[in-house]
Amino acid sequence: MIQPHESDPQSVAPAVANLDTIVSLSKRRGFIFPSSEIYGGINAVWDYGPLGVELKNNVKRAWWRSMVQLRDDVVGLDAGILMHPQVWVTSGHVGSFSDPLVECATCHRRFRLDELPGAEELSATDLRDETVVERLGLRCPIDGGPLSPPRRFNLMFQTWMGPVQDEASIVYLRPETAQGSYVNFKNVQQSSRKKIPFGIAQIGKSFRNEISPGNFVFRMREFEQMEMQYFVRPGEAAVAAFDEWLPSRRAWYEAYGVTPARLRLREHAPDELAHYAKRAIDVEYRFPFGWKELEGVHNRGDFDLSRHSEASGEVLDYFDPATEERFIPWIVETAAGADRAAFTFLIDSYREEEVRGETRVSLALHPELAPYKVAVLPLLKKRPEIVELCHRIKADLKRDMMAVYDDTAAIGKLYRRQDEIGTPWCITVDVDSLEDGAVTVRDRDSMTQERIPVEGVKQAIVDRLAAARP
Ligand code: ATP
Repeated sequence: MIQPHESDPQSVAPAVANLDTIVSLSKRRGFIFPSSEIYGGINAVWDYGPLGVELKNNVKRAWWRSMVQLRDDVVGLDAGILMHPQVWVTSGHVGSFSDPLVECATCHRRFRLDELPGAEELSATDLRDETVVERLGLRCPIDGGPLSPPRRFNLMFQTWMGPVQDEASIVYLRPETAQGSYVNFKNVQQSSRKKIPFGIAQIGKSFRNEISPGNFVFRMREFEQMEMQYFVRPGEAAVAAFDEWLPSRRAWYEAYGVTPARLRLREHAPDELAHYAKRAIDVEYRFPFGWKELEGVHNRGDFDLSRHSEASGEVLDYFDPATEERFIPWIVETAAGADRAAFTFLIDSYREEEVRGETRVSLALHPELAPYKVAVLPLLKKRPEIVELCHRIKADLKRDMMAVYDDTAAIGKLYRRQDEIGTPWCITVDVDSLEDGAVTVRDRDSMTQERIPVEGVKQAIVDRLAAARP
């Protein structure tokens, strides 16, 4: 078993000491804004601005490339957010998708028990124990008032489908994408003619009425997941698939630049395992607020397909023509969050350094993840020939990648602006360019500059992007 705490939380420093550094950069440069801000905001919902949507799309694309495009054994799916309500009864979400909630008798604020100071390390058994608050002497972290015993709080959002609002028309906003993959198992397997082992990958919005959301986009009530369900033969094959997926998922974050020392694995203790899980290991990241889950890898056994078979009457089994056996496949799941991943890439890429007496802030984002791949900058915006050449270069580049033109400051400032949003390369057009037909390509991380002929500059950027691709 992987030790619950492979390393001491304090021994690895976070990439930024204070989360506010990232929150304010995100707001100022247009990565992430509070939702409905002009009305005072709505708790735990965030909007992605012009740069944030590029970053998050790139994260999703990188995940899809690694999980679907580069694999012969995984196909994609995009199921609905609303599903037949029975799905959530069968899956166990209606009965037990809940967190332990305590309430302060004085201020009536509500907290998730395991996020109270002094309760972070409680076992799953403790979290279900009605006497735990009294036993540990836990008090309200806001006003020190007495707290109620924990009660279970269901995290699913519900609404009504159709014009009548009654019990029979209740539907749920999905709290995970996985169930869409289970109920479509037969459709996908038969239409794609996949043989076991094979996987179904999905990216999409999920909703959870979290008791205590927070830490920026780490825990939201509306968020996006990137989940893959891998269907295998029962027993040993699931153990082997789990052992293959786990390191490959950790490696994915490293391949896109996350510092290896800020990643670790944490195995769920037996009393912490979800009702469906035979084994669960989280990939955790050292956030500024501690080690927290980035992604979960789960061996779910035959729980999902057996339960849906029983409840729907549709037998969700598989016939293996090679061995002439019929069985209910077991499932190994990799469950990641698109927002949490994008957040991690943002934090981990943040750099501050002294350059000639000034602080240079840069995001050393992997080029595949960077919102803009390249900026085209004029050294002298008063020279129309220089500006015109910039526009020609940019027009050519933007057919293949996100490129931006900026002439609203002196070159030093233009470079710093691009550094701060993670643009890996800047192309500068100067007076010499008009004579020698060459431009300067500046590298974000090394700050080195190279002269490249105008005709070859797009190919040079395309080649650098391809070389960086994992
Ligand atoms: P946690 O313990 O943090 O509540 P979980 O174990 O409930 O997470 P899963 O159900 O395994 O999470 O969901 C898979 C992934 O979806 C998580 O690893 C995370 O990246 C993402 N995720 C889950 N809940 C949220 C949320 N409220 N906001 C943002 N991302 C989330």
